[in-house]
Amino acid sequence: MTNDIAISLPEQRPRQTARRLLADAGESLAPAQGPRSLYIHLPFCAHKCHYCDFYSIVDRQDRQLAFTQRLQRELLAQAPLAAPLESIFVGGGTPTLLAPALWTDLLTTLDRAFDLSPIRSGQGEFSVECNPETATPELFDVLVAGGVNRISIGAQSFNTNHLHTLERRHDPANVARSVELARGAGIGRQSVDLIFAVPGQSLEEWTGDLERAIGLGTEHLSCYALTYEPNTAMTARLERDEFIRADEDLEADMYELTVERLRAQGLDRYEVSNYARPGRECAHNMAYWRQHDWLAAGPSASGHVAGHRWKNTPRLDDYLSIDDEGFAPIIEHEPPDGRRAMRERIMTGIRLREGLEIDVVCAAAERVAPGARRRLETSAAWHKEVGLLIERDRRWVLTDAGFLMGDRVASDLMDALA
Ligand code: SF4
Repeated sequence: MTNDIAISLPEQRPRQTARRLLADAGESLAPAQGPRSLYIHLPFCAHKCHYCDFYSIVDRQDRQLAFTQRLQRELLAQAPLAAPLESIFVGGGTPTLLAPALWTDLLTTLDRAFDLSPIRSGQGEFSVECNPETATPELFDVLVAGGVNRISIGAQSFNTNHLHTLERRHDPANVARSVELARGAGIGRQSVDLIFAVPGQSLEEWTGDLERAIGLGTEHLSCYALTYEPNTAMTARLERDEFIRADEDLEADMYELTVERLRAQGLDRYEVSNYARPGRECAHNMAYWRQHDWLAAGPSASGHVAGHRWKNTPRLDDYLSIDDEGFAPIIEHEPPDGRRAMRERIMTGIRLREGLEIDVVCAAAERVAPGARRRLETSAAWHKEVGLLIERDRRWVLTDAGFLMGDRVASDLMDALA
């Protein structure tokens, strides 16, 4: 038995690597127009949380070295495509499980291969996801030396019962400890992730979690309603009737309470599930949601460059054994497609506080689907009439009620491209 026990992996095996598609993407980019963002996926976790569908394997520390060496080769292969990097996000998995010595190797390679001057000058953002159990002064010192200036801490809940329901193993006290350690090491920016609508969770208990998180004084919070993804243990337990999922009305009440409470604290919603102090939005995620280009490295990582989208294999064995001049094996590649790009732009753009630029979006939609401008305007007019959308500074922006139904509004607007 392998230790790839995280989730049921697709049967699909990689038949190509990212080398050719990135060469094609590179040819269509003007000099200095390369991606300014980079996502890196580190796949190791101490344990599999029951709600999680991210690719991760239970770490036995026997493959960290081989993985880090392979990842460095992939980064070196991709680096010539990149412009000076304005954001790096290391997610997982649990990136903070990687041994500090291997982090040093990885950060040294990043520094040598890429131009990190925007990050080093403090303008750019370098985020690492952190599990509260794994934060140590030694590791944080290594991260700071490598340019990391933002840490994203997976708290999920401060209530041990609800952590238990999620099969999430950490001591809630370690969240505050991680924040303090980050501050002490000089990582000036911190974010905390929370989950609500956990089975059995009351509105009062969610309020308690929110207050604990607010009390940490971080600049950013992400608050997601629990979702039941296919092939996760949580979904299997739900199907076995081991618990009752949260009532929809309660979930909506929790969401509204979150928006109001955080707004009162100066943490404004800038995306459906993300809240920040002014100017402290996550630049890396904004690059995704604005459909900018980004490179991606590591198993299961997905990238977007010059209209190409691809996904690396999620199988660590394949990732380690297939090495095409450093480029990784991929299981998905979507070549440039104007209509798909437009749909993605609407889907992610409407979920942002800044909304969609009406003139830009209508002109672009008309280019890929004749008549789309009129259909978009008709759809937007209807959503304005029912109070889900407003027009502000020539942008379509969701109202508070609209944010509760963001997917529905996005889907209606995307229909205009049909
Ligand atoms: S620590 Fe994060 S990536 Fe790992 S299993 Fe839990 S939720 Fe998934």
